[in-house]
Amino acid sequence: MSRHPDERLAQLTELFASLPGIGPKSAARIVTDLLVQRPDVGRALSRALADTLQSVSRCPCCNTLTTEGLCPTCADAERDKSVICVVETPADQLAIESSVAYRGSYFVLMGRVNPMNGVGPKELGVDRLIARAKVAGVREIVIATSYTAEGETTAHMLLTTLKKYVPDVRVTRLARGLPAGIEIEFTDAATISAAILDRQAKG
Ligand SMILES: [Zn+2]
Repeated sequence: MSRHPDERLAQLTELFASLPGIGPKSAARIVTDLLVQRPDVGRALSRALADTLQSVSRCPCCNTLTTEGLCPTCADAERDKSVICVVETPADQLAIESSVAYRGSYFVLMGRVNPMNGVGPKELGVDRLIARAKVAGVREIVIATSYTAEGETTAHMLLTTLKKYVPDVRVTRLARGLPAGIEIEFTDAATISAAILDRQAKG
């Protein structure tokens, strides 16, 4: 696909095409939609993105993205704070929330172990997870990283680190009912519910 001759339009299209899951053709369609069919949505998107970029930070408790200091899930008094479910991304957290089988708290890694890109325990905030696990009352940590190669490596790193620093906390892994090689975020709610209920002790 050839580049748009107008430089600013070409740049805008390339920015959209650089997003996950959007190819050059979809990017061109999105740009036309936002500039021609729905300029009101284009303006709202531009404002919302600028505002959110200014106010977004990491939740001091679970590490997820938040615009409110402590995130709404951590601030929820109804949540069982004695169980922490460790997920890779906010999208995975949403998938587990939709399963309804889980009412505990979370820790969001915002990635997974990837030595090639210099992502290890430090970058994933594992020291903060350990600090939280050391608080009296935490009895279980559920590892809910995906069953992909990197997700398994991340699970193994978490297991060995947690066993070393918080040996009294039970560590479980989502049951093997989840399809191999699949991201948690693309798994249906019923399968996730079964995997949570069947979670198994590790180590
Ligand atoms: Zn939080």
